Amino acid sequence: MDDISFEAAIDMRARDMLDACIRCGKCVEACPTRQPAGIAEADPVTVITGIIRSGEAPEASRQWAAVRP
Ligand code: SF4
Repeated sequence: MDDISFEAAIDMRARDMLDACIRCGKCVEACPTRQPAGIAEADPVTVITGIIRSGEAPEASRQWAAVRP
């Protein structure tokens, strides 16, 4: 068995999750932080697509990522 760091293992898991995501937006629809983030009316698919892709994200994606429940 290869030894890898904790950080490398977490990074691999995160990449696997990102690869598996089909960007359906259901996690955004179900998330209770939409209201406190001020994105209750934002399109869930647009929000999650902005979270997953790298580069410039829509304002609603940045608001959702920054909210502290
Ligand atoms: S958008 Fe959310 S619910 Fe849909 S596949 Fe991706 S992580 Fe899962």
